[in-house]
Amino acid sequence: MGSRWLDFRFFDLLRPVADLARELTAYRPTLIVGPPAVLRAVQDQGAGVQAERVVSVAEVLDPDDAAHLRAWGPVVQVYQATEGLLALPCEHGELHLTEAHVHFDLEAVGGGLVRPVITDLRRRVQPFVCHRLDDLLRLHPEPCPCGRAARRVAAIVGRQDDALQLPGPGGEPVTIWPDFLRGALSAVPGLRDYRAEQTGAAALTLALNPCTPDLDTRALAEVRAALRRSGADPAQVTLSTVPLPPLAPGTKRRRVSRARPLAPEVTP
Ligand SMILES: [Zn+2]
Repeated sequence: MGSRWLDFRFFDLLRPVADLARELTAYRPTLIVGPPAVLRAVQDQGAGVQAERVVSVAEVLDPDDAAHLRAWGPVVQVYQATEGLLALPCEHGELHLTEAHVHFDLEAVGGGLVRPVITDLRRRVQPFVCHRLDDLLRLHPEPCPCGRAARRVAAIVGRQDDALQLPGPGGEPVTIWPDFLRGALSAVPGLRDYRAEQTGAAALTLALNPCTPDLDTRALAEVRAALRRSGADPAQVTLSTVPLPPLAPGTKRRRVSRARPLAPEVTP
């Protein structure tokens, strides 16, 4: 597929990772676009890529993934949702909101995070007017050296409904933002991948890879410290660890999530 100048190739993510790694190495792309969890998995299978750009899409790009993927080339993100193309990288690799085309109102939700409310009148069939997204963003406070006035996204933190609600010292629910927990678990040396899921009103399960007694201890200590820093009371939270099951092909990775519903079902 492509032209004399460009050659595109689509890799089916439902195929075995080892096959993807082999074919990707042989293909030698100069630009590679994909969800970071898949790119990492292919990289771990030994795919050798030297690209001019590695573009992360569809999932939150965590700093640990970005650090590994830089072995392939400069890493940038594109922020795209069902609602359209919402942020693009500039020549400095910084992610700018597409404010030339979409109007963004940014609602503060606490913890230094904002939730976008977009109005995109270019869409005629289905215009978005004051449409609230589920995503949480952390903005960069400084203007970008590229000179664009469009605001800069420092991090796409995750979805509002992935924020955890765990008990504080008085039993009151305290919000734990997903990036706070990701930061804590990224600090565990030797931890390759993980998920954290709130499975009850005061229960948090950590799925770890690898899941060894030593790593379990370190991960639990980091998470307890992060909960304390967030204002929750780790003594009231039941923490458990399990080995991380492989990500089902074709599913989006969400490293931090909250199972719903949390409350036990009431029988009439
Ligand atoms: Zn810029």
